[in-house]
Amino acid sequence: KSTISREIAKSFGFIYVDTGAMYRTVGLYVRRRGINPRDDVEVSRVLPDIHIDIKYENGVQRMLLNDEDVTDAIRAHEISAFASDVSAIPEVRSFLLGMQRRFAEIYNVIMDGRDIGTVVLPSATVKIFLTASPEDRAKRRYLELCGKGSDIAYEKVLEDINTRDINDSSRAVAPLKPADDALVVDTTGNTLAQSIELIKRLIEERIKDAL
Ligand code: C5P
Repeated sequence: KSTISREIAKSFGFIYVDTGAMYRTVGLYVRRRGINPRDDVEVSRVLPDIHIDIKYENGVQRMLLNDEDVTDAIRAHEISAFASDVSAIPEVRSFLLGMQRRFAEIYNVIMDGRDIGTVVLPSATVKIFLTASPEDRAKRRYLELCGKGSDIAYEKVLEDINTRDINDSSRAVAPLKPADDALVVDTTGNTLAQSIELIKRLIEERIKDAL
C-alpha cells in the first residue's frame, strides 16, 4: 500500500502522506512509556506529551517523535499491534485528524490510510480502496521483513495480519471499510508495477473527469 502510494505520488508530483506512520508513532511512544495501548484513559492522558512532525527528505516521509527521527523504529513488527490498539481510541484519532486535514489543505496529496475516504477527506477527488488476499499481503510483508534481516515466520505474519484486519474492521470508531464512492482495486496476484500502472490510469481518468 505505501509503496504504491509513494510511487504514484512521485509520478504526479504530489506529497505522499502515510497516516499509518502517525498511528505507529503514537504506538511507539505508548510502548516506550510502558502504557497498555488499550487503556483509553492512560493513552489519552499522555497525548499532550506527544509531538509529531513529518519532514520530507528526497520525497521520503520521515517521522519525528519529540524531535527524534523514529522512521525506522516504527516499522518494528511489534509496533503494528500497538498502532492498531491505539488507533481504536477516539481521542487518538481526533489528535491526528487535524494534522492530516491540514496537509491536504496545503498540498496536493496522496494520502494513505484506512479512513481517508470515509472520514478524513470525504470530498477527495479520487478514492481508491486497495485490497488483496491476506496471503498475498502476508507474503509481501514477510519478504519486506526478511529483507530487513528479521527471522519472523510467514505463518506469524499471516496470523498478525488476520488479527489486525478483524480489529480494524470491527471497531466502533472509523472501521476499515470502503467509501461509497471509492474504486475498489484488488491487487491479488499483481506485480507491484502492474498495480501502479492500473492505479495511475484510474487516477488520470478521474482527474480528467473532475476538470
Ligand atoms: O498502515 P499501517 O500498518 O502502518 O497502520 C498501522 C495501524 O494504524 C493499522 O493497523 C491501523 O489500525 C491504524 N491506522 C488507522 N487509520 C489510518 C491508518 C492506520 O487506524 N488512517
